[in-house]
Amino acid sequence: MIIAIDGPSGAGKSTLGKMLAKRFDLLYLDTGAMYRAVALAVTRAGVPFWDVDRIAEIAETARIDLIGEPDAMKVFLDDDDVSAEIRTLDAAQAASVVSTISEVRRIMVEHQRAIGMAAPNGCVLEGRDIGSVVFPKADIKFFLTAEPEARAHRRFAEDQAKGRISTYEQTLAEINERDERDVSREDSPLTIADDAMVLDTSELSLNEVFEQMAAKVRARQSAAA
Ligand code: C5P
Repeated sequence: MIIAIDGPSGAGKSTLGKMLAKRFDLLYLDTGAMYRAVALAVTRAGVPFWDVDRIAEIAETARIDLIGEPDAMKVFLDDDDVSAEIRTLDAAQAASVVSTISEVRRIMVEHQRAIGMAAPNGCVLEGRDIGSVVFPKADIKFFLTAEPEARAHRRFAEDQAKGRISTYEQTLAEINERDERDVSREDSPLTIADDAMVLDTSELSLNEVFEQMAAKVRARQSAAA
């Protein structure tokens, strides 16, 4: 069973994706973490963002591993635990820039498909292009969205809880900037797949959204049985 979850930043993809993976015993793959790790490798190597050939080389050779249970997943870049470092605002912006490079996307999509196909019970993948590009034939596609202000409030609260210094206005501006880059890039822009179930998380509680998603998965499981 392949479940695709796409949507803009802060719509609840990670939280809900992890909940679904746990409930149905599926592998959870945070594809954004992979782009963030590539971006960190590029920054560490001191390669400028315009040097697409060297960035593609880095994407090809960097070893990115996502290890552990959904709630405690660690991200390794060439055996170095970068789980915290990839979560900074700078890392998010850098990821949104390197993810516009087609060759980087091609390499990441290849890895994502291999990981998804190898998962014994199936996989929940979350990102921007899962239902449209990585697994266009996914068993279930969700597109999670919410008003930018609601998403920025959530992100801001998460950042505060983690002790990060930023303001709500900065968070909102950062989210808008990344969304704009994600929807307007030429290769694999953020789009709603025709057959995706669209859920707006602005007004609904996390549990309400989760129950709708879980019901869809159960319906699919019974149809397949
Ligand atoms: O989901 P997350 O915010 O961690 O993703 C970081 C960035 O990586 C996004 O802003 C987006 O530009 C890029 N991304 C992507 N395709 C994916 C996942 C993430 O382009 N499947």
